Amino acid sequence: MSDHKNNPYYSRTDTMHLKVSDAQWEKVLPKEVYNIARDKGTEYAFSGKYWKTDSKGEYYCAVCGNHLFRSDAKFASSCGWPSFFEAVSPSSVRYESDNTHGMRRTEVLCGRCDSHLGHIFDDGPPPTHQRFCMNSAVLDFEPDKK
Ligand code: FE
Repeated sequence: MSDHKNNPYYSRTDTMHLKVSDAQWEKVLPKEVYNIARDKGTEYAFSGKYWKTDSKGEYYCAVCGNHLFRSDAKFASSCGWPSFFEAVSPSSVRYESDNTHGMRRTEVLCGRCDSHLGHIFDDGPPPTHQRFCMNSAVLDFEPDKK
């Protein structure tokens, strides 16, 4: 897990929705996290730390600590980004239409802090046939305890 001691908003237990300005986030987040989470950037394919991780455990928002995904819903995707077929609960994420870059896509945001996480596509595996295409930089993986 990354170091969050400079981020007073980070919590694995508090689920209250956060309203924090980008100026404030910029002060407490590492630059590579800020660029994706708040400026809606995308890391290079096959560059992130989790695209081929297949360990058992939980994935949390690297910005606020919100529980997002369980490793059971992660699948090996050839796209180069960590991919999941479902979120841990319906309220853990929210969606917005994104028509930038000449594409019609659906953006996935953290349900607690509204940070940009990635996009969702309908070419995933059963049972949902969805593919949450996420950026590793905005995820924190916590392996299961043995
Ligand atoms: Fe978050």
